[in-house]
Amino acid sequence: MATTNNIATGLAKIGLFLRSANWRQAEAAALSPTQAQILIHLTRRGPARIAALAEELGVTQPTASDSAAALIRKGHLERRRDPADGRAALLHPTLAGLRTAEAIAVWPDALLAAVDALDAQEQVVFLKGLTKMIRYLQVKGAIPVQRMCATCRFFRPNVHDDAVAPHHCAFVDAAFGDANLRLDCSEHEPTDEPETDAIWRRFAGTPAGKADAPPAVSGEAS
Ligand code: SF4
Repeated sequence: MATTNNIATGLAKIGLFLRSANWRQAEAAALSPTQAQILIHLTRRGPARIAALAEELGVTQPTASDSAAALIRKGHLERRRDPADGRAALLHPTLAGLRTAEAIAVWPDALLAAVDALDAQEQVVFLKGLTKMIRYLQVKGAIPVQRMCATCRFFRPNVHDDAVAPHHCAFVDAAFGDANLRLDCSEHEPTDEPETDAIWRRFAGTPAGKADAPPAVSGEAS
């Protein structure tokens, strides 16, 4: 329990630093942190409706709606008709919005330097641990669906007899290792349960019936 608390404390300290850095970046662009988050999200993932945006960012629909309205007033977003449903609108970044997003969507140098201070083995262990924690939070419904290898239909974990690159991505048809596990991949496509659970068990090395991985829950997005 002491280790658990220490890790949670460490994560909270890093989270505090990131919130502070994000706040400063947003403020420099005359945006609120939520406005900056929405602009970056739409730039990276493409146009979206308000409801989908709110769900993906884990904010309420009124919060997403107010922030989007402010971004439209500031010239960073525009509403366009959704080609799939003429009664609905999609939010698109404007050219000015794309430029602003590019300027603020950078990781703080101090964070990148801190990660680089870990040796290669420490980085791999850390990344795999983060993957497991994020998967757990996703299964428990604590965070939205994440576009990571461990929940992707193209992911073939531990299929190669190669300690450095045991996994395979069927999208690019290439082997890769734990060091290159993706946590936000634009090519990610979700699977249905129980396939997601089976992929996870092959990745985490957890035999069926033994749950160091969280059980799939009803309504879990795959
Ligand atoms: S498409 Fe992306 S998320 Fe899916 S397995 Fe390949 S690298 Fe991972």
